[in-house]
Amino acid sequence: MLKIGCHLSISNGFHKAIQEAVSIGANTFQFFTRNPRGGKAKDLDPKDIEGLKKIIEEYDFAPLFAHGAYTMNLASKSENTREFARMILKDDLIRLKEISNSYYVFHPGSHVGQGSERGIELIVDALNDAIDKDNDTIILLEGMSGKGTEIGRNMEELKAIIDGVKYNDNLGICIDTCHLYSSGYDIVSNLDGVLDEIDRTVGLDRVKAVHLNDSKTEFASNKDRHEVIGGGTIGKDAIIDIINHPKLRNLPFNLETPNELEGYKKEIEFLRGEYR
Ligand code: ZN
Ligand code: FE
Ligand code: FE
Repeated sequence: MLKIGCHLSISNGFHKAIQEAVSIGANTFQFFTRNPRGGKAKDLDPKDIEGLKKIIEEYDFAPLFAHGAYTMNLASKSENTREFARMILKDDLIRLKEISNSYYVFHPGSHVGQGSERGIELIVDALNDAIDKDNDTIILLEGMSGKGTEIGRNMEELKAIIDGVKYNDNLGICIDTCHLYSSGYDIVSNLDGVLDEIDRTVGLDRVKAVHLNDSKTEFASNKDRHEVIGGGTIGKDAIIDIINHPKLRNLPFNLETPNELEGYKKEIEFLRGEYR
């Protein structure tokens, strides 16, 4: 069965989010661990997370995805910003232990002019500080579109981060179809070639999840503008090939398309119908 869901808010609790997920035919979902702009995380309500495991099992959910705040920049030039990001990362990882079967996804960061080599060094240092040998949470670096000074604009950068982390057994990547296409990986006319390229660099076994988005901008634009499925430059056919590809079809897919619940429901229905 296709593992597919979308981004949902947990501001009204996990039970509400799970109900929503079930109501739109999702069997995974992604949520922000805190306000997407960063800031303080609401304490998890023990009543709300109690029984979560049972519900997740009952509905046969794939892993859930906690997404780190967009403002978290482990590669910042400012020591304060870096420290704040490192604190958020550690705190998120502690909180995630309470939520069964959840992965952590985050944007590696932006080097803001210091150069990608220095940026990668800072990210590696933060991860080595946060991940000890007992870590059992799957942590995923998201591949980025390459806007501004983003790190993770290509597989080589993601690989360099993974290689720098001492306890990297549970460190992998999340590919985002919009970001891949925008950063110059032609998943529309050469999906097999792109997957080979990923395999030669980070290794396909490191790819643990997919963000399924169409893109508003042209190939290799280095922009990050998500579009609804079939409404953008990637298009329906390429997206259908992606969810069915033997090397991807068993991964969990999450939609981050510009949609309300009803729109997500339609996209999930459509994609389930196209899953062979
Ligand atoms: Zn993301
Ligand atoms: Fe994404
Ligand atoms: Fe994005």
